[in-house]
Amino acid sequence: MTAIDQLPDYLAKQKTYFSTGETKSVAFRIRQLRLLRELLQDHESDLIEAVHKDFKKPAFETYATELGLIFNDIGYAIKNLDQWAKPKSVPSPIVNFPSKNFIITEPYGCALIIAPWNYPLLLSLQPLVGALAAGNTIILKPSELTPHTSELLASLFSKYFQEEYIRVVLGAAETSKALVELDFDYIFFTGSNRVGKSIMRTAAERITPLTLELGGKSPCIVDETANLEISAKRIAWGKFINAGQTCVAPDYLLIQPSIKKEFLGYLKDSIEQLYGANPEESEDYPRIINQAHFERLSNLLDAGTTVAGGQTNAETLYIAPTVIDDVTKDDPVMQEEIFGPILPVLEFNTLEECVEIIHRHPRPLALYLFSNTQSFEDAILERISFGGGAINDTITQMGNHHLSFGGVGASGFGSYHGKASFDTFSHQKSVMKKPFWPDVPLRYAPYDGKLGIVKKILK
Ligand code: NAD
Repeated sequence: MTAIDQLPDYLAKQKTYFSTGETKSVAFRIRQLRLLRELLQDHESDLIEAVHKDFKKPAFETYATELGLIFNDIGYAIKNLDQWAKPKSVPSPIVNFPSKNFIITEPYGCALIIAPWNYPLLLSLQPLVGALAAGNTIILKPSELTPHTSELLASLFSKYFQEEYIRVVLGAAETSKALVELDFDYIFFTGSNRVGKSIMRTAAERITPLTLELGGKSPCIVDETANLEISAKRIAWGKFINAGQTCVAPDYLLIQPSIKKEFLGYLKDSIEQLYGANPEESEDYPRIINQAHFERLSNLLDAGTTVAGGQTNAETLYIAPTVIDDVTKDDPVMQEEIFGPILPVLEFNTLEECVEIIHRHPRPLALYLFSNTQSFEDAILERISFGGGAINDTITQMGNHHLSFGGVGASGFGSYHGKASFDTFSHQKSVMKKPFWPDVPLRYAPYDGKLGIVKKILK
C-alpha cells in the first residue's frame, strides 16, 4: 500500500520531470514504448500467473483478451507515432490572409489512470500506452481487488521505469480519492458509474479534463432471421468469457418468441461445448472476484425460469454460466448492470418493442445484434445510441485498433484504443502565424464604410 501523505510528493516529482521536456521527444517516447513491450515480454508468464491467482482466469484468456491487445497497441503506436506527433497544417480562410495555420499536438502533462479489476492488465496498460505515446508522465492506480496483479505491476514498473516518469500507486478507494483531489493534468478512469460520478465532481473543482469509461446494461438482440446455432455460440462465448465480468459483455438477451426455444437449446449446447457438463471442473472458467460480488450476483438468480446453470459455490466463489428465461422488467436482474455470468432472456415481437425495452435503461456501452435483415439492422443502428458494438458477433470488435472504444451518456465519454488513445491524452494546440507585412487595415477602427466589405467576406 502506498502511504496517502506521499502522493502530493509523487505528483510534484512527476511535474518537475515533465517540465524538463524529456518526455516530449518522439524518440524518447518510442524508446519507452519498446521498454514497456520488453517488460511485458520478459514477465509474460509472471503476469499470467498473477491474474490466475487473482480469479483463476485461464492463461489463454489473459493473453487473448489482455496482453495480446496491449502488444498490438504498442506496436501500432511505435509504427505511427512519428506521423501522429507531427504538427498538422490546415487551410487559412481569406480573413486571415496571408497566414500559415497549424495544429501542434502536445501532452497534457501528468496523467492519472485509475483501473478496475476485471481486466487488470488491459485496463491499466492500454490507456497507459496512449498516455505514454502522447508524451505524458503517468501515475497508475490499479485495482485493490486484484492484489497479485497490481503488486506485480508496481514492482515491475519500479524496476523498468523511473518513478518520476511512471509510478504505480497501490491502494483502495481512499488512496484513489486522494489522488483525484491532486492537481493532475488529465484523469482517465475506468470503473463503475457511481465512482465515475464522484471523480467527475472532484475533477470539476480544478477543471481537470477527463475520460470516463463506465458500464451499463448492454443488450444482445437476436431476430428470427439470424443463424441461431452460430449466434448461440458467439453469445455464449462473449457472455461467459471472464465469467461474465466484462464491461462489454451482453448483459441481457432480447429474442423473438418464434425462435426462442430452438435458440435456448443451442445456447445450452454451446455452454456445454465451452466448459463441459460441469463448468465448476473446467480449467477455462474463472471465479467471481470477491465475496461481495458473489453475494450480489447470487441474489440475482432468484428470477424467472433457469434454463442453464444456476449452481453456486460460496467457498470457491463459483457461479455457473446461467441463463434465465421468463424474466420481467421488474426483476432485480433487470435493474442494473449484471457484470457476472447470468444471462436473462426477454422477448420482443416488433422493432418498436425492442427499442422500447432498450430505452428503459440509460444508453449502453455496447450493443449486439444477430440478424440477416438489413432493414432491421439499419433501424437498430439509427434508433439506438450506444458506445460501440458488433453485428453477428460479440466483443471481438475490441480487437480492432481502428475502432475507437468508449461509452455515451451514462456509459461514459471519451474514447481510446489505437490512435484514439494518443488523441485522448493529447491537447491540440491551434496556432496561426502571420508575416509582419502586409498589415491589412480592414479590422481596425474607425469602422466607417467597412461593414459592407466584412459582410461580403464573412458570410
Ligand atoms: P469501481 O468503480 O469500484 O473501481 C474502479 C477503480 O476506482 C478502482 O481502482 C478503485 O480503487 C477506484 N475507486 C473506488 N472508489 C473510488 C473513489 N471514491 N474515488 C476514486 N477512485 C475510486 O469499479 P470496479 O468494481 O473495479 O469495476 C467494475 C465496473 O467497471 C463496472 O461497472 C464495469 O462496467 C466498469 N468497467 C468499465 C469498462 C469500460 O471500459 N468502459 C471496463 C471495465 C469495467
